[in-house]
Amino acid sequence: MATIGIDIGGTKIASAVFQPGSSEQLFPKTTATPHEPTLFIDTLVEHITRLQTKEPNVAAIGIATAGVVDSVQGEMLGSTGNLPALNNIPSLRKVIEARCKLPVFIENDANAAAYGECRSGAGQGCADMLMVTLGTGVGTGLVVHNQLVRGAHFFAGEGGHIAISMNNDRKCTCGRWDCWEAYASGTGLTQTIRQTLRQLMPAARTPFWKQFDDIESRTTHDLFAGMAAQDPIALQIVDTWHEHIAAGLGSVVNLLDPAMVVIGGGLCQFVDLTQLLRLTRPRSMNANLKLVKATLGNHAGMVGAACIAWEKTASKQPELSLSDSAVY
Ligand SMILES: [Zn+2]
Repeated sequence: MATIGIDIGGTKIASAVFQPGSSEQLFPKTTATPHEPTLFIDTLVEHITRLQTKEPNVAAIGIATAGVVDSVQGEMLGSTGNLPALNNIPSLRKVIEARCKLPVFIENDANAAAYGECRSGAGQGCADMLMVTLGTGVGTGLVVHNQLVRGAHFFAGEGGHIAISMNNDRKCTCGRWDCWEAYASGTGLTQTIRQTLRQLMPAARTPFWKQFDDIESRTTHDLFAGMAAQDPIALQIVDTWHEHIAAGLGSVVNLLDPAMVVIGGGLCQFVDLTQLLRLTRPRSMNANLKLVKATLGNHAGMVGAACIAWEKTASKQPELSLSDSAVY
């Protein structure tokens, strides 16, 4: 029996069918995310009914979404500004189950991505794994003894909001000061770029940066172009960014002691693992800290959601042995 995996993002909804134990996407499709609740539900149902037509042998649906998710009840406890439609849908699980007649399981996207990497990606075979997702924000997902850790109120994965300074230097999007995310995320890195350029006298800027008139419009895109061109200021900012990542990572590792840390997200391709390990080890109690990069790319959430749906459904079916669900 296959499962459907769906990833709901602020701009896109992606879906595919997955066979047990496989991260291969079957019949994948991506559409824009509607912001009007009725259209949002209709679009989700269209994704599901299309996949049910392609693969009639579907046992359950797993949905990964941004925001704080009560994965027991299948309800959103806190949406993000990027997904306004979800603020007006009391129980996403009940609505989709009523329309599609299949069991539905909902998970926070950072948790789902961590679970996907643990079961079918970079962390395969590792029972205690931390995933750090570096994108617009910083997400963390923790798997302990092969189980996702969600916390008493379902926000155990919000590790991006640990404070890495007490100086009130930089305000985070959550409203607090000096969160890890305010430095290590794409949003934080953009601030570091502009702050660095602001502090440099125009004459001290290298030719790469002198080509831009407006330093307040510079982004990570410019930074990584400068890094590829071996511009010394760009390289210095990238070094600082690695120090910012290490500052939070060392603390998180000391608290959780994972066997492996998987670095994922859209910015992970720019992370130098050797440099990050060199900067993190002095901050960590674990002298043999293991860092690897994620392998499932932006499909990790979908894979993890499909996997959770399969395991939860399989565990209720007495004809399936425990080993069947354990290996997936
Ligand atoms: Zn924060």
